[in-house]
Amino acid sequence: PANRYEAPQNLLQDKVILVTGAGDGIGKAAALAFARHGATVILLGRTTEKLEAVYDIIEENGWPQAAIYPMNLEGAAMHDYETMAATIEKEFGQLHGLLHNAGLLGKLGPLSQYDPDMWQRIMQVNVNAEFMMTQVLLPIMRESGPASIIFTTSNVGHKGRANWGAYAVSKFATEGLMQTLADEEDGISQIRVNCINPGRVRTAMRASAYPGEDPMTLKAPEEIMAAYLYLTGDDSLSISGHIINAQ
Ligand code: NDP
Repeated sequence: PANRYEAPQNLLQDKVILVTGAGDGIGKAAALAFARHGATVILLGRTTEKLEAVYDIIEENGWPQAAIYPMNLEGAAMHDYETMAATIEKEFGQLHGLLHNAGLLGKLGPLSQYDPDMWQRIMQVNVNAEFMMTQVLLPIMRESGPASIIFTTSNVGHKGRANWGAYAVSKFATEGLMQTLADEEDGISQIRVNCINPGRVRTAMRASAYPGEDPMTLKAPEEIMAAYLYLTGDDSLSISGHIINAQ
């Protein structure tokens, strides 16, 4: 199974991979895991200092030099995504991996009292941004040989749960986006499209949803990287349209 995959050291050699939300939590761990396995990683996120810290770790380890692309997905519009795609085309000429990891949880509470502004913000970051970014990057990914697009879902993304509001609905939408795109690319390109469900992971987002929980009872982001490496590297070439549990 993907969660016990053992990645060869050179799995991602010569691959260019974009990670959103790469400055913290699961995205940071994924960016480092990809770089450790030979990838050139494009670090996208909203807090530049966090991205710079990840960049520095990659440099200190002598892994392929990373690139930083600061971007706030909440405010970004289509022309920002077009500029991003043009920059990637110019700097790298190819893109083999796209990990949609950035996400916003918002404040938990019942729909009867859910703040509509919060609803919009969460849908913007967790769904609309993924759609726009994917659309502008499809052309370059189609030209890059085998390529992998990974979306991030959650247990509340296929079974609704009280109080999870826009976050839960956004993850249902993310799974729909994944399935629709996987079906469209099937047979016309070498792009495979899947979701990862990370499970319970020790991050700031998890702590904000479960403030009373002892974080040390949870897996650290670095401990769930097998599934991320599996879906990114060429050992998963035939896998598309799936939801993979990282734990
Ligand atoms: P964190 O909150 O630790 O990290 C989220 C990352 O997304 C941060 O780097 C954050 O940037 C970035 N981000 C948030 N909003 C924006 C924005 N507007 N523009 C750009 N970047 C943004 O969360 P996790 O690592 O826990 O979550 C990663 C993914 O995994 C999410 O999609 C989440 O829904 C999913 N997930 C997590 C689970 C868990 O147990 N942790 C369980 C199930 C799913 P910054 O650091 O600058 O704020």
